[in-house]
Amino acid sequence: MEQLESYVSGNWVKGSGKPSILVNPATEEHIAEASTEGLDFGAAFQYARDVGGKALRALSFAQRGEILRALSRAIHAKRDALIEDGIANGGNTRSDAKFDIDGASGTLAYYADLGKQLGDAKFLVEGDGIQLARSPRWFGYHALVPRHGLALHINAFNFPGWGIGEKMACAILAGMPVVVKPATSTAVLAYRIAKLFVEANVLPPGAFSFIAGSPGNMLDSLSEQDVVAFTGSADTGARLRTHAGIVRGSVRLNIEADSLNSATLGPDVSAGSDTYRMFLREVMRDMTQKAGQKCTATRRIFVPEGMVNDVRDELAAMLRDVQVGNPATDGVTVGPLATASQLRDIRAGIELLAKESTFVTGNQAFTPAGVPEGKGYFVAPTLLHCTDPDAAKAVHAHEVFGPCATIVPYDGSSGRVVELIARGAGMLVGSVYSDDRAFVTDMVMGLAPYHGRLYFGSEKIADQTAGPGTVLPQSIHGGPGRAGGGEELGGQRGLALYSHRVAIQGARPILDAVLELKK
Ligand code: NAP
Repeated sequence: MEQLESYVSGNWVKGSGKPSILVNPATEEHIAEASTEGLDFGAAFQYARDVGGKALRALSFAQRGEILRALSRAIHAKRDALIEDGIANGGNTRSDAKFDIDGASGTLAYYADLGKQLGDAKFLVEGDGIQLARSPRWFGYHALVPRHGLALHINAFNFPGWGIGEKMACAILAGMPVVVKPATSTAVLAYRIAKLFVEANVLPPGAFSFIAGSPGNMLDSLSEQDVVAFTGSADTGARLRTHAGIVRGSVRLNIEADSLNSATLGPDVSAGSDTYRMFLREVMRDMTQKAGQKCTATRRIFVPEGMVNDVRDELAAMLRDVQVGNPATDGVTVGPLATASQLRDIRAGIELLAKESTFVTGNQAFTPAGVPEGKGYFVAPTLLHCTDPDAAKAVHAHEVFGPCATIVPYDGSSGRVVELIARGAGMLVGSVYSDDRAFVTDMVMGLAPYHGRLYFGSEKIADQTAGPGTVLPQSIHGGPGRAGGGEELGGQRGLALYSHRVAIQGARPILDAVLELKK
């Protein structure tokens, strides 16, 4: 069986001891193993800080951008082989795997372009300076400078490719070395990408490290200039928040966690309209793409009471049409969940939701296609209907990280639906489908404080968007409250996580020259 290696201090190394076993989630076949036992995290982290950090800080944004472009190309050149890894270890359909892999290369390419735009500078000066007293000579600026630590990127199992790309793009462009720690269960794809990055030979020594296997005691080796960007469950996120290694040095921590995202059908939308079809299509895509294992997937579907029957029947018909099974088999459109423990969690979560809702579809027996009997981590796409959203608790609080969502009726008023959506206590994305400006205005004002991103579907853009479930590098990703309180991406904003903001005061001509401001 293939043993995945870690890349630390400029070398590929194998862990010792009892490894974690990585499987094909459609067949449960063992395909690889990984262990971090025996790795010296302290030495690896110090090498990244001392060697990688120094080298990256010496480069301009344009030069760092060129590195990102080469990494993007390295992924794209091996796209077909990477898709096979996504299918075998991630349970991805071909289209799911492309979404992950193209997301990685696309985000790296986007930040490569940003690096080119930022040009020869090595750090950012924010906004205009400020006169600090009566004398116009005493002046102040704010600058964003690269932190002198490392960026530890702890990723979730669901996007092993994109997770690497989106975090690395911002950190490398900002001038910080990265240590990538993918989720162990789906690490094969991440490992292949790590190999491509090292083979591309464009990253300065120490700028990139890769950990294959469990985190062990790595957090004990953090220090105050480091940044931890974590994506995963709220439970793990909460453990990280209070970890001594993070608390001790006020290590900057960004958390991207669970989210009870919503899709709302506006009261103005009639069955059969373009906006209505867009709503159905995008809810359906979010429920089934990556078998619903997307942090941005819709979990709650808010529908005006008079439209519930139409939406319920149409969505159920669409969901019954999908083919669940081994993604290596032709015709399969929904693959398995990634692990046995996800299967247990999702089944338990659906049971919990079903205590306060009724099944529309998903509770019938089914046979996944192309799978040895009794094998694989499959659930049927499941739609529930919650008739008493005031009494229901789990629908607003329990994220079922699979192909499952619940229809929740509302009275058609913006006030009521905002109040129900807000019960999710902080979300990554909320989508609203309406062509009524007054309703959209109310929704913007009501929903904004509870979301990282709002997405408005309407007739004019019905066939022109990537949908609410796609995270784009131009817009921020993250959400308040339950979603972790983090913020990533958002164009140039994404560099702030990896930079230290410093106020600089002094004589204006000197500062202007030092900061190379052209006045
Ligand atoms: P998880 O179990 O919390 O694991 C996430 C990552 O944390 C893995 O790399 C894991 O490593 C690592 N980890 C676990 N314990 C750790 C510790 N004590 N110290 C350091 N690292 C530790 O989450 P998951 O099951 O992979 O992901 C599913 C969850 O992620 C879902 O709830 C989903 O909503 C959320 N998610 C959020 C976003 C977002 O952007 N907001 C995106 C995707 C997923 P091992 O795998 O080696 O244990």
